Amino acid sequence: MSERTHETAPSEGDEETVVKPVVAVVGRPNVGKSSLVNRVIGSRQAVVEDVPGVTRDRVAYDASWREREFTLVDTGGWDTNLSGLAAQVARQAEYAAQTADVVLFVVDANVGITDTDEAVTRVLRRAGKPVVLAANKVDGQRQEPEAMALWNLGLGEPYPVSALHGRGSGDLLDAVLDAFPERPRISDEVEESGPRRVALVGRPNVGKSSLLNKVAGEDRVVVDPVAGTTRDSVDELIELGGKTWKFIDTAGIRRRFRALQGADYYATRRTAVTLERAEVAVVLIDVSEPLAEQDIRVVEQVLEAGRALVLAFNKWDTLDDERRYYLEKEIDRQLSRVSWAPRVNISATTGRHLARLVPAIETGLASWDARISTGRLNGWLKELVAATPPPVRGGRQPKILFATQAGVRPPHFVLFTTGFLEDSYRRFIERRLREDFGFEGSPIKLSMRIRE
Ligand code: GDP
Repeated sequence: MSERTHETAPSEGDEETVVKPVVAVVGRPNVGKSSLVNRVIGSRQAVVEDVPGVTRDRVAYDASWREREFTLVDTGGWDTNLSGLAAQVARQAEYAAQTADVVLFVVDANVGITDTDEAVTRVLRRAGKPVVLAANKVDGQRQEPEAMALWNLGLGEPYPVSALHGRGSGDLLDAVLDAFPERPRISDEVEESGPRRVALVGRPNVGKSSLLNKVAGEDRVVVDPVAGTTRDSVDELIELGGKTWKFIDTAGIRRRFRALQGADYYATRRTAVTLERAEVAVVLIDVSEPLAEQDIRVVEQVLEAGRALVLAFNKWDTLDDERRYYLEKEIDRQLSRVSWAPRVNISATTGRHLARLVPAIETGLASWDARISTGRLNGWLKELVAATPPPVRGGRQPKILFATQAGVRPPHFVLFTTGFLEDSYRRFIERRLREDFGFEGSPIKLSMRIRE
């Protein structure tokens, strides 16, 4: 069994996607899977009743125990069109074992071991994933012996629980945590305080320094030396729209280093370094000249860095009708990839529409920070996939089992699948994500976790 991660967005120097551990709950209908899921995730995101034949609209949820976060997947929502209960449950167990880090196998202690439970056990044993066995409906001590009978499944210790009353669920979750794989946790949510960091980028002569002077004014500038970097790397705190912003590496903008700026390589390097430290990039484009390859290159650098993006079309004061006509064509043709970026048409010289910059930056940052709950995401995904399933590939229909948002800044989604999804289908998902959730002004990353 192998696992591969595929990225759609460019991911220069990207570390391996760190996804929260996935716990999949399997078991026959009516053993109390949904109640257990509800118990773990809390009533806020409650699941509908575990009625056989009724498919749930959501399959995955955010959960946590003892400050460890994980994704809880309710397999009851999968593949309910398979005929035969045992086959259906066994198939769900198979998927669960393929995609999850830990399988939480729920058995009804009052009923005891059934043929279906045994079928599931065989599947889980073969898969070799850690299994935690929950003996459910042990509402009181009287039923404990019934739970102990589940040792006979050969899956280790049965944890007696009452999903309904909560009895035993702590021990059960401790066992689940113990079974998690050791993984480095890279937190993407370091709450950084202080002003948000803006990069003003664009090829030479688009008007960066003019804009900076206009919004800051030479005299109102507070220079903020950057620790540990070269002397000429300076940030400025600038007040705009009632808030303070940190403009990154303004020395590089203000300095008249024409000879060096002219050198493509130097400009590109400097932009990359600036973007690295910024959260949102305002890409300036000079409308008095045709869109140049260098303009597109800067936009691509922002995408590579995964920063929020605002397009500022500068020197709008120079525009006549004819140039405007061609400009719109150029934008359509060359910037369609970032049609989600807010656009402001400004003039650094006249001050036209400068007040629109801040709302655009704020929109981009809000999208960059945005998080969709796992429950909501999967409800949405389920509908989307039902209406437009992934295309068959090599005679097989890849299945998207569930999805989680692995990170923010920018939003990063991971699809857990049983097969490769065509690029076109992934682009379709990305497009629909944007249509339904917005993300105006932020790139989004979409990757796949394939088990095969
Ligand atoms: P930078 O290299 O990106 O910092 O660009 P500069 O700010 O040095 O601007 C390059 C040239 O464009 C200068 O001659 C500016 O006066 C001119 N410029 C900048 N913004 C505007 C604008 O909005 N309208 C017009 N007409 N000229 C501008």
